[in-house]
Amino acid sequence: MGAGLAGLACARELSEAGLRVRILEATDQVGGRVRTFEHEDGFLLDRGFQVLLTAYPETQRLLDYDALQLGRFYSGALVRHDGAFHRVADPFRHPTDAPATLMAPIGSLADKLRVGAASWRLRRPRLRALFARPETTTEAALRERWGFSDTIIDRFFRPFLGGIFLENELRTSSRMFAFVFRMFAEGVAALPAGGVQAMPRQLARGLPKDTVHFGTEVAAVEGRTVRLESGDGLEVPAIVVATEAPEAARLLEAEAAGDVQTESRSTTTVYFAAGRPPTDEAALMLNGTGAGPVNTAVVLSNVQPSYAPPGQALISASVLGNPPVSDDELEGEVRRQLRDWFGAGVEGWRALRTVRVDYALPEQAPPFLSPPMKRVRRRPGLYCCGDHRRTASINGALASGRAAAQAVLADRRAGRLA
Ligand SMILES: Cc1cc2nc3c(=O)[nH]c(=O)nc-3n(C[C@H](O)[C@H](O)[C@H](O)COP(=O)(O)OP(=O)(O)OC[C@H]3O[C@@H](n4cnc5c(N)ncnc54)[C@H](O)[C@@H]3O)c2cc1C
Repeated sequence: MGAGLAGLACARELSEAGLRVRILEATDQVGGRVRTFEHEDGFLLDRGFQVLLTAYPETQRLLDYDALQLGRFYSGALVRHDGAFHRVADPFRHPTDAPATLMAPIGSLADKLRVGAASWRLRRPRLRALFARPETTTEAALRERWGFSDTIIDRFFRPFLGGIFLENELRTSSRMFAFVFRMFAEGVAALPAGGVQAMPRQLARGLPKDTVHFGTEVAAVEGRTVRLESGDGLEVPAIVVATEAPEAARLLEAEAAGDVQTESRSTTTVYFAAGRPPTDEAALMLNGTGAGPVNTAVVLSNVQPSYAPPGQALISASVLGNPPVSDDELEGEVRRQLRDWFGAGVEGWRALRTVRVDYALPEQAPPFLSPPMKRVRRRPGLYCCGDHRRTASINGALASGRAAAQAVLADRRAGRLA
């Protein structure tokens, strides 16, 4: 059950192996957390700011990037600090921006050389080896393992990784940091022309017709029976629970859900429309000051023009957590901060929507990735996948779905499914 990325990846693998699959999905769409809302004025608003990292092994395996018509981010960022933006670029992809990067007051020269060294050293080993290194927090790894200064940690890593981990204490597993840094070193961040939901939609198109049953909420798992909210029961040889962690823990309660991490992280995205973009950059802008609600901002339509109607711009501002203030108050605070960044033109921007995602990511403090691959098989006939089983990401969700499908197929081959 669950037509998020994990459930779709699992269903793809099983149906390609010739099994009949039914996905029971509580809502009316595929994608789960990866959804896109089409605003009546022609803007594409994702369910919170999120990106595809093109180096993800699972998306490379499962998605047709050409068909997604990806718009790519600049490989680097603009860091807001001391009243100005400072460029931090990947020198291998943007060599002409290397001098600006070296001059930026975002850390010492040694820090910048360490970024290059980390990028080089994290690219070399096999992915599996990255996950074998001792697990600590990202902050401890940055400081103690890589030797970064407080300056670059506070001005660059907190907002940059904070936007990915959805927390800026950097308490997230160092294994997640190594994985994410490797993905940025090997590929780029990108957005599909149809919004992020184009990814699950493409996966769903690869499934036999009528595989996904929408508006079908599962109430309980009872042995080999899936009990629906409607009261009906479906008896099946194998059940895969592909929901968010808290719902998985509830459904698996009777089946020892002990290792399902149910704590989570939230995020809020405020979308604005503008008559013209405040910058032509397709770069992520990071708040390197530690003050104000905005962690990152980006002109999405500079990255992917399809996100805004012709002649207009779409700007997103990301806030960590779910601030306990009204949408109007939050929008006002965000606008004040962006006015400071981009000038008085911000007053003329139209607020389109504030998107609050309460359950955005599972909590990923150590020992979240010990082991890095949590078991997906509960017993013959019952399996569990989702981003809480691997790295909490698009890649982790897809990988867990494939692993669950392989466990089903192995039990079937061994004659363990009735
Ligand atoms: C705002 C935001 C930003 C993010 N940014 C990034 C990013 O930049 N890069 C990245 O890699 N990842 C990012 N992520 C994480 C990524 O989106 C998730 O890790 C991934 O989508 C999780 O997929 P999933 O299939 O495990 O779970 P979900 O997408 O949560 O899917 C679970 C599905 O189960 C269904 N369901 C739940 N309960 C029931 C029930 N009882 N019966 C039937 N159906 C049920 C739900 O409706 C849903 O469709 C972000 C997430 C958010 C929210």
